[in-house]
Amino acid sequence: MAKILIIEDDAPTRANLAEIFTVSGYEAIATADASRGLELAIQEQPDAIFCDLLLPDRDGYTVLTAVRDHPRLATTPFVIITGRSEREWFRQAMLLGADDYLTKPFTAQELLSTLYVQLQKRWAIATSSEHYHSRSAWFATHSLRDAFLQAVSDDHRYLPLLVLRLNHAHELQQHLQAAHFDALFAAVIQRVAATAPALTIVSLDGERLALLASTIRSVAATASLANQILTSFEQVFRVGAQDFFLTASIGMASYPRHATGLASLLASADRACQIASRRGGNHYQVYAPDPLAGDRLLLATELHYALDRQEFVVHYQPRIELASGRIVACEALVRWQHPQRGSLAPAAFIPLAEETGLISAIGERVLRLACQQALEFQAIAHRPLRLAVNFSGRQFSQPDFLVRCGQILRETQFDPGLLEVELTESVLIQDRSLAQRRLSELRQLGIQIAIDDFGTGYSSLSYLQQFPVDVLKLDRRFTGNLNGNAKNAAIAIAVIQMAHSLNLRVVAEGVETDAELAFFYQQACHEIQGYCFSQPLPASEFCSLLAGDRALVLPAATLFT
Ligand code: C2E
Ligand code: MG
Ligand code: MG
Repeated sequence: MAKILIIEDDAPTRANLAEIFTVSGYEAIATADASRGLELAIQEQPDAIFCDLLLPDRDGYTVLTAVRDHPRLATTPFVIITGRSEREWFRQAMLLGADDYLTKPFTAQELLSTLYVQLQKRWAIATSSEHYHSRSAWFATHSLRDAFLQAVSDDHRYLPLLVLRLNHAHELQQHLQAAHFDALFAAVIQRVAATAPALTIVSLDGERLALLASTIRSVAATASLANQILTSFEQVFRVGAQDFFLTASIGMASYPRHATGLASLLASADRACQIASRRGGNHYQVYAPDPLAGDRLLLATELHYALDRQEFVVHYQPRIELASGRIVACEALVRWQHPQRGSLAPAAFIPLAEETGLISAIGERVLRLACQQALEFQAIAHRPLRLAVNFSGRQFSQPDFLVRCGQILRETQFDPGLLEVELTESVLIQDRSLAQRRLSELRQLGIQIAIDDFGTGYSSLSYLQQFPVDVLKLDRRFTGNLNGNAKNAAIAIAVIQMAHSLNLRVVAEGVETDAELAFFYQQACHEIQGYCFSQPLPASEFCSLLAGDRALVLPAATLFT
């Protein structure tokens, strides 16, 4: 009995699919989330996987990539089910190695015939040793996969995969008849094959080729091969009576350095190719992994566990009122205490947390920790200190954002009047009416609103009047190097004056030197935050700072002016 794995978070759809498969004589296993789905796929080795594209913890593409990277699942039929029918989504799925794509709503008949076709293909592959040579995307990706698995099992230490993209393919497609374009693309394939006969060449779509170079053993040899191919494009392409001068871009990624699975390898080579094509003309680019890109999936999984394992800690940076020189507030800044990688700054994981949706859970954790902690700060300082917490756009637009904030405030008994929510301009601009509603709701709870990184995002100031805002945080781009850059100083002065006239508090971020400090004092900026007073500190050190009641010492220069 064929075994089908269903990964679908919508309970009625999931039950429905399982029922259709069961009644039709298949064994159905179903789960609502991606992580569990992956575990089941590995444990159960299903004969086909039907996976929803939008899942609560990860998207279907991520599941697909992980499945394709797993040696025992690399050829398991994978069907994406989704409500989206846009072409790019479909192409992305196919490029990552999906076998089919079902758009909701679909009938039981469509579902079963899709499954049937996949099982037939699997059976045909399993029982025939013949080589299939077909231009269809399915056979193409499968023959690439075969060549890849073959090379990898032959114990290759270095296996380069190239993606070649025909530049301006879209324009060509628009201007040529389909048959004409196909002929042109066939000529491209022929040219590449003639230049590099030992390659496995597979057409990914009408404009990209994947080239697997299993006979090449070094990075230098790969580069010279790529250059040979690009040089071959200098010769004219002739289709019918027409001549074409074409250019191409080539991106390269190699196994096992950049990726160990075909889907990731292909995605990396494709990313390198995109960079090459941005440079225009005939260019070759080797994939340069940013330190996190290669193992984003791993990091995403670890991010998930980090919440359970309490690996997030919050550091606090003091804000000092210039008039009194005293600490009046602190900003909560999250850090990830990663068991292997050490302390990670927000820039290393917040974007990924945004993508995976984990940002909301992380943000709530930070808010709860910071509220609890700030109560202790107040007790030590013997005065009310405001607490500023950063919120990402995704978290801010969650439907239950406000309810959850309110609940945390009640649980921790933190005074909402002392909480400042920091949002960036871009978050407010994305959906103005939602932002307006949210901000007034926050205000009703007594919470204050600060605009973070002010001056970097939206250049029109008119929106300040639309939104209930209490604080502007002048981005540190404008606070540094004031002497060397007259424009920075002019912008800083303008923002401070505007804040005064709109009755907003203004905070200069990233103030590092005495000269900068003197400048903000002279401009009557309300508060500063920066290394000149203190870096963000672990809670215990922040407590010591408060206990010592250290005040800001103004530089001598300010006293003479
Ligand atoms: P931000 O809110 O603008 O925070 C200020 C950043 O500037 C912090 O970086 C801080 O360490 C740094 N900084 C402070 N003073 C100075 C200075 O004098 N010189 C320089 N060069 N830098 C200074 P950090 O902690 O790496 O945080 C970066 C960003 O990550 C934050 O920018 C904020 O947008 C985001 N972030 C931090 N914590 C959270 C969080 O809990 N949730 C969300 N959604 N975002 C967070
Ligand atoms: Mg901030
Ligand atoms: Mg900022």
